[in-house]
Amino acid sequence: MESRTQVELQVTDNAYHASYGQSDHLKLEKVRQEMEYINTIGKRFVAAIDRFHVHRALLFALQDLYSFSACCILLFDETPQLFIIPCQPLSASFIQEMVQRIVSAAQVVDFPPLDIQHLIATAYMDAPDEVAQYRTQEAMECTEVGSVLNIPLTVENRIIGLLCLFDELVGTFDSEMLRLTTMIADYAAVALDNVRLRERENALWRRAELERQRLELILRSMAEGLLITDEKGMVISLNQSAWQLFNLARVDIARNQSFYLADIAEDRAWLLHLSQMIEWAPNWQTNTNHASTVGDKDDIVPLTLSVSVAPLHDASQSTHRPTGVVAVLNDVTSNKQVERLKDEFVSVDSHELRTPLPSIKSYTLNLIRRIERRLRKAHVAQETQSASMDGQESPESYDLHTLRIIQSQTDHLERLVNDLLDLSQVQSGQLILHYDTFNLAELLANCVHSAQAGSEQHTILLDIQTPESAVIADRERIAQVIGNMLDNAIKYSPHGGQVIVNLERTEEGYRVTIKDEGIGITPEQLDHIFERFYRVRNTTSRQYAGVGLGLYVSKAIIDSHGGTIGVFNNSPIGATFYFTLPFKPVSKPLQLSESL
Ligand code: ADP
Repeated sequence: MESRTQVELQVTDNAYHASYGQSDHLKLEKVRQEMEYINTIGKRFVAAIDRFHVHRALLFALQDLYSFSACCILLFDETPQLFIIPCQPLSASFIQEMVQRIVSAAQVVDFPPLDIQHLIATAYMDAPDEVAQYRTQEAMECTEVGSVLNIPLTVENRIIGLLCLFDELVGTFDSEMLRLTTMIADYAAVALDNVRLRERENALWRRAELERQRLELILRSMAEGLLITDEKGMVISLNQSAWQLFNLARVDIARNQSFYLADIAEDRAWLLHLSQMIEWAPNWQTNTNHASTVGDKDDIVPLTLSVSVAPLHDASQSTHRPTGVVAVLNDVTSNKQVERLKDEFVSVDSHELRTPLPSIKSYTLNLIRRIERRLRKAHVAQETQSASMDGQESPESYDLHTLRIIQSQTDHLERLVNDLLDLSQVQSGQLILHYDTFNLAELLANCVHSAQAGSEQHTILLDIQTPESAVIADRERIAQVIGNMLDNAIKYSPHGGQVIVNLERTEEGYRVTIKDEGIGITPEQLDHIFERFYRVRNTTSRQYAGVGLGLYVSKAIIDSHGGTIGVFNNSPIGATFYFTLPFKPVSKPLQLSESL
């Protein structure tokens, strides 16, 4: 820039020699000096990398023109910022007066009103070393403002702040220098605006970088494996845990290279499946907790991953195609191991648990009968002798009471063991059905009759909406489902009320609904109610006995008949359970949920 200006001046100079006189030559010389001066100043401003370099460049330029006590820069950003650059010691009263004058000048150029004290308290004192030593000999503290020069700092006709010069002497700021001072102020304004933009950019960049580092740290320390693909499904990033899981599954992948899963899958079904899930992910919201057996199927408990995939949407264009897919891999082998042990326990030990039950039941029954007989005899004897034990309970009747408790608890235990046995049958896919033709309305009537006998608090109403109800199904198993639903309707209606059992014929088959007036089920629980061992956990439900298997087994029974089972909430109280049965058996493979 400097050499170009010199060349231009050279040309102008030569042209002048050709056609102008001596006085013009002097003028031209002055202009040239001025331009050289401005050029030098301009270079200083251009080279300034931060606001303090700008302040320094500004001071050097201004101090060539004037000798003054302080230079102030007021900048209007989101919050106003005041920089005071003292050239000699300033007293508090001098600073107070300076700021007052700056505030008044700001009002003249239509800036919002400023609070003087706040401005003083937040002002930044910038004293470059060279400047601080500038007037050391006459370093007397300034007390009163003698002259002021205010110049707006303008960038493209926009006032970004004010440059205010102060001196304790009167008449310091020569109006002849005004043109040059304004030019310097313009340079400073552009340089300060650039610095401001650069500072903002840097702050944004720093924030983004911090966020990136934080995210990277989170991803690195996550126990779950994480894969991120681009929009074409190419894996572009994977965290440490994912890499370890691939290693565990003996899949060789280069750490820092992008790859398609299908390319490394070879004959590994789980990788092909994962690749497919990623390919389809853009069509889904999310696909969660899909269990994938990764290890050798012959292993006792093979390495099993739970895989969830979700499309990644750019926040700014959520309606468009995803920019990629994120897959989360979770090693659930230990869960599987626990489940396996649990299943083993259930299938083996429930048989063991069942073995002593018939003997306990029959011995208890014998004892009850014997004591009942004895009590009857004693009762007859008492009547004839008008015995003296009137009003007192005999030890025999106490024993009878105890035995009846044992009998009812054994029945309870038997039901529990049967549930566990059913569970193990369902788990191993060995729920065997014995089909028979029977009348569903009749079966319902029987079940309602025995449920009603067990509860005086409830009124069970049977509402049969169809004249015929012949079905081909496993009578005992369907009775088990109805019995379980009726037991629950009674159990979960602790204050009694009505239970309405309805049978109707639909196009697909018969539909049985059992509606109660009990505690009901919350919408969140509705989704889980048919899961094994699921019990609603709240303070009220703790008082009801059960293990959370009845509905799981009921669902398996209805599913294997090809029917449907479900539940909804009644308004305002209670729940309604229903199931449907096709007229004829529909062979439907037993579906054990693949989701974890
Ligand atoms: P259990 O009754 O042995 O706990 P179930 O599988 O029969 O097991 O039921 C699972 C859970 O569903 C119960 O624990 C209970 O929380 C809820 N539930 C079942 N039937 C009803 C009902 N009629 N009203 C309210 N909650 C019910």
